[in-house]
Amino acid sequence: MSILKVARMGHPILRQVATPLLQEQISDSSVQRLIDDMVQTLAEVDGAGLAAPQVHSSVRLVVLASEDQKEHMVLVNPELSFLTTERIRSYEGCLSLPHLRGLVDRVARVHVEAFNHEGERVAFDAEGFSAIVIQHEVDHLDGVLFIDRCNTRSLSYLEELQKHGSLDPSFEAAMEGESNESASANPGSGDSSGADGPESPDQEI
Ligand code: ZN
Repeated sequence: MSILKVARMGHPILRQVATPLLQEQISDSSVQRLIDDMVQTLAEVDGAGLAAPQVHSSVRLVVLASEDQKEHMVLVNPELSFLTTERIRSYEGCLSLPHLRGLVDRVARVHVEAFNHEGERVAFDAEGFSAIVIQHEVDHLDGVLFIDRCNTRSLSYLEELQKHGSLDPSFEAAMEGESNESASANPGSGDSSGADGPESPDQEI
């Protein structure tokens, strides 16, 4: 196994639509090696998810990691359907845009269908942070980065967010260009944003 170099924003592979794998290709040694290397790379960078285009392979394959990096889930050719109109907002980061964070709205609950690392069909529902990570990774397969979806006023360096209080609702309102008046008039408005998302915006995906 080896640790792979992560493509950074500006590399054209991050803007390509990745190619699906055939079910019978999943057992190929080249695909299995890519999976092993992506698992090791994810552990090395302590990320929650990694999409193959981020490691210079334009195929529809993503790896998700548990918080302790002990468990991994491989999704090949993942297809998403939205289970709710409810949105969750959180600061997202990306291994391909190191140190940057931006507020992104995602669908709160999604249904996922894919092949696993053994080429078996899997289907499950995801919500909260898992739903955010899966949508972020599937975006990578379509050549979409989180900055395409975030409010650009919220784009920040992680170090500055940590300094200036990213979890304070009035800070978020200011970053989004809302007046403080509307933020204080509706003090509960921040409740849903951070509740299901990551506790802190540290992790890159
Ligand atoms: Zn990413």
